[in-house]
Amino acid sequence: MNESLQIRTFKKTGHIEVICGSMFSGKTEELIRRIRRAEIAKQRVKVFKPKIDNRYSEFEIVSHNEQAYPSEVVSNAEEIPEKCFDAEVIGIDEAQFFDNNLTDICQQLADSGKRVIVAGLDQDYRSIPFEPMPQLLAIAEYITKTLAVCVICGAPANRTQRITESSEQILVGAKNHYEARCRLHHIVIPDKSNN
Ligand code: ADP
Ligand code: MG
Repeated sequence: MNESLQIRTFKKTGHIEVICGSMFSGKTEELIRRIRRAEIAKQRVKVFKPKIDNRYSEFEIVSHNEQAYPSEVVSNAEEIPEKCFDAEVIGIDEAQFFDNNLTDICQQLADSGKRVIVAGLDQDYRSIPFEPMPQLLAIAEYITKTLAVCVICGAPANRTQRITESSEQILVGAKNHYEARCRLHHIVIPDKSNN
């Protein structure tokens, strides 16, 4: 066997898992579940979230049903690799708040043998794909799409309804600004500033 083939054969293989869906669909819950299972398997884990997400806690990822797991806050994706040299499993929540460099960073981490679990909103409040999630979905080995419950009719919901007036793509909030809605009950309110 030649040397490069031998290295490839014996090196641990990494991969990327993406958990995506609307708000309240259980992405953070699912991320925490996978991270806790990795801990049970005695793997070294490290969890990150973007600085912008300070809704429930500064130093934890927190689900809407109050499950929490310690996380490190980073300002951008480039900070992640230097903070997880010895981690075997890396969790990243609220991936839609990072820029497109997150895609390369996740590739780099997975190439170096790590299991990378990324959770994020796949659509914004207008139901437009929320970058960098489409890119991450394209390169991931494993994809899970979680669905919430439509607050109007109880059907499975894959959209996020903004219930306050704002046309910014990013408006950090939870039940104060957003609801889970199905395709039928999701309404995009026209942006008055474009009139
Ligand atoms: P996400 O990270 O996708 O926003 P979380 O994992 O933080 O979601 O929260 C999921 C939890 O939110 C559910 O287990 C449930 O307790 C709660 N929840 C509140 N509203 C809804 C809804 N409309 N549909 C489903 N779950 C909801
Ligand atoms: Mg979440």
